[in-house]
Amino acid sequence: MMDSKVLEYSDQIKKLGIENTILEHPTSKNIDEVVSSLALTRSDSAATLIMKADDEFVAIIRCDDCKLDNKKVKKNLGIENLRIATAEEFTKLTGLQPGAAIYFNPSIKKTLIDKKVLEKEYIVGGSGSFSYSIKHKTKDLIKIPGSQIVNVAEKALIMTETKYSGKKRVLSGIRATGRLHLGNYLGAVKGMLELQNNPEYETLYMVADVHTITTPFTIEELRKNRREVIIDYLAAGLDPEKSVIFQQSEVAQHIELAFYFSSVATIARMQHLPTFKEKVKLHPGHSTMALLNYPILMASDILIYKASLVPVGIDQEPHLEVAREIARKMNQFYGTDFPEPKRFATKGEYIPSLKGEGKMGKSVEGSYINLTDSLDEIQKKIRSVPTATKAGGEMTPGVKTLFTFANLYLSSEVEKYKKEFNNGTLQFVTVKDEISEAIYKELQPFQERRKKIEADQSYLNKVIKEGAEKARAIASQTVKEVREKMGLL
Ligand code: ATP
Ligand code: MG
Repeated sequence: MMDSKVLEYSDQIKKLGIENTILEHPTSKNIDEVVSSLALTRSDSAATLIMKADDEFVAIIRCDDCKLDNKKVKKNLGIENLRIATAEEFTKLTGLQPGAAIYFNPSIKKTLIDKKVLEKEYIVGGSGSFSYSIKHKTKDLIKIPGSQIVNVAEKALIMTETKYSGKKRVLSGIRATGRLHLGNYLGAVKGMLELQNNPEYETLYMVADVHTITTPFTIEELRKNRREVIIDYLAAGLDPEKSVIFQQSEVAQHIELAFYFSSVATIARMQHLPTFKEKVKLHPGHSTMALLNYPILMASDILIYKASLVPVGIDQEPHLEVAREIARKMNQFYGTDFPEPKRFATKGEYIPSLKGEGKMGKSVEGSYINLTDSLDEIQKKIRSVPTATKAGGEMTPGVKTLFTFANLYLSSEVEKYKKEFNNGTLQFVTVKDEISEAIYKELQPFQERRKKIEADQSYLNKVIKEGAEKARAIASQTVKEVREKMGLL
């Protein structure tokens, strides 16, 4: 039976000249559920926000796929202070339960309508009841007494649910153990950039600062490095307008979900991972529970956004396998809908250490070239790669390392170098210097951008704050779903 209050409200706005239809749907306070049950998207619906603007209350109508720009609202109204009305204020003014807003409230004298609301012929809004919505003819909304059309909202970068944007999600991260090196850039950041610039993907990139505490660290270094990594990201071309860039620790839901995930992962599986064994070897006496839990937290980092593609180096493949296993088990045991994430590989998926053994790594001193290194530093480091040749002409690990760089940076010369190596005439010093110059040339624009970004700390603060907000909105939704499915809510 139709709610009489809804009918009354519909008639009231009809009398104002606003053409409208009442739509019925399953009872829900969740906007995503409501629009999906009406076979619509968030761009077809708009919400009314009741706000306290200095001393008066105003209503602001903005599309549900948009975010209000508070600065624009303040400027528009010529006010200093702006905040959302408290639940008590809201109910007192509208007579409604919080979350059940309607477009026309006689007690509110001023209504701002964001101009994007008028882009569609019809817009769906609240009816005052959680079981009904109202479809309005948008051009009639201006008949709301005291209303005006303004430009105060922007399309939000990301929606809280993958299925509504229809895009595939991407997640990647880098530990805050130092500044980025060539391995990080070629194995991870290049892939991150490629996916960021492909409109088919929604990309989220974090500084994995919680992962940093899984190996020995100092507080000062951690605090400094997590910011340095963000600066490196931005200088490399990650763009907060296109990607959500954030610090992992600011989205505490990652840690919560990791604990739920740990209920489907065995200790033996974690202990046998090559990455675990390597880190234990590297830091004897530090085989902590945090280190053992690393892959579980990484599974949570990815799956909390239901990301299906992960641009990381090949060293992370065993961790992705764990993430897939966890997704499968969670789906099987609890009926969740996690995707099985795949690695997105780049040409530089494995950059060897300059020391001739293992991979280039931030926490292995002498193994890396930083993206901020000068030509001198690069030359010195590349010259230090051990290239003494073995009897029989076999390539030593150091020589192989050099050829990896030659393949990436001087691909047109590689055949020539190989021939010279085989007939014993290869001049290692010349090759090393040519490689150093080619690397530096690619890094130069990055280094210039980095200086500018580093100088603008308030911009950085803004990027970090906004990134965390966007990430949190998605992460909290997933955690809520998992808690419900696991019987914890
Ligand atoms: P740490 O030594 O502290 O573990 P790291 O250099 O291994 O640091 P991570 O933060 O663990 O860096 O990894 C960040 C990203 O860079 C991951 O996607 C990882 O796969 C990639 N990566 C790290 N080292 C290399 C490498 N040598 N070659 C290619 N990709 C790499
Ligand atoms: Mg690593």
